[in-house]
Amino acid sequence: MAFETIKIPSASVGNQAHIHLHRFGPEGVKGVKKVYIQAGLHADEHPGLLVAQHLLRHLEQLDQQNALKAEIVLVPFANPVGLRQKNFGHLVGRCDWHTGQNFNRHMAIDPQQVEASLAPSFGIDAIENDRLMRLGLKHLVAQRHDDFEINSLHKILLSQSIDAHYVFDLHCDDVALPHVFYGLHQQEMGQTLAQCLGFTICLEEDVTGTVAFDGTHTQPWVNMQNHPTKPVFSTPCFAATLELRGRSDVDPKLAEQDCLGILDFLTHEHLIERIPSPKKPIALKPCRVDQVRMVKATASGIITYRSKLGETLKAGEAIADLVLVDHPKAKSIPILAPCNGYLFSQTGQFFITKGDTVAMLSTQEQHIQAGTQLAF
Ligand SMILES: [Zn+2]
Repeated sequence: MAFETIKIPSASVGNQAHIHLHRFGPEGVKGVKKVYIQAGLHADEHPGLLVAQHLLRHLEQLDQQNALKAEIVLVPFANPVGLRQKNFGHLVGRCDWHTGQNFNRHMAIDPQQVEASLAPSFGIDAIENDRLMRLGLKHLVAQRHDDFEINSLHKILLSQSIDAHYVFDLHCDDVALPHVFYGLHQQEMGQTLAQCLGFTICLEEDVTGTVAFDGTHTQPWVNMQNHPTKPVFSTPCFAATLELRGRSDVDPKLAEQDCLGILDFLTHEHLIERIPSPKKPIALKPCRVDQVRMVKATASGIITYRSKLGETLKAGEAIADLVLVDHPKAKSIPILAPCNGYLFSQTGQFFITKGDTVAMLSTQEQHIQAGTQLAF
């Protein structure tokens, strides 16, 4: 068990941010797997911060009981830069004030760099290839330029996570049912995770395109496996983004439930020796990310919902009403489901501007290009 504080190079003068890092279980032992868990990369999403504190308590106990068979790294607040972005009482934590960049984008490791520097080194030994891949990725992260504080933050987080075997990035949506993102190529493991968490909605990503923090870890492995030399690997990284419902779902009972779900998955993977919490299998709703339909407002006004989260809608059914506050007479227009789908996300805003996303439906049809992200 160890606790570290890592300084983030200062963007200006006299203003030093840092992250905290907790390490549990055997560290750096040959053959021992590494798990990396972080919360709050989007600094305005707080259910994960609470889940991390529940994990901290459980992991301390499990470590004392010698039950941890993997090294587990926990970063309980991954974005102190965003956490200080309070503007007149409101936390603006999704994008960096300095650069305008989304904290959960633009950190991918250049695929051409990975290919050029690593492809020639792989042989026929899958375990040795794993080792070379993890070492190589760590080296590429260490070489990164970090002109801006957001780049330094990404560099520090990736320096701790890029060689992990399992990565969990804890986020939340606006108002939503819990859901999980993972690579389409890791469907079986992703669905096992969803079962452990009790999350029915599984969003399966093509990680060869634009990636967030999770896909940054799996993309190099997928790209190398698609390389003409087809190197073999033993245990590529599994990464998932956990969307812990909506922004206001900060609740100790839910946090404990989600914490136990993560520990149950790690137990299933033989990384922890403990008895998993009893649960019944649930009917999952897997859907590719490009099959999620974002429903946009076609006018501005006040939104009120007719449909509830968890409802299956038919095309043309009303999701919500938009009250047009600037119309000469009192008037509202319905917002209709553009296709059949399962409503799993709504906006938490009441005043909506034309073009805003007001709902997300999981469907069985493709709506956007594969390999693109749902939100900017
Ligand atoms: Zn987020």
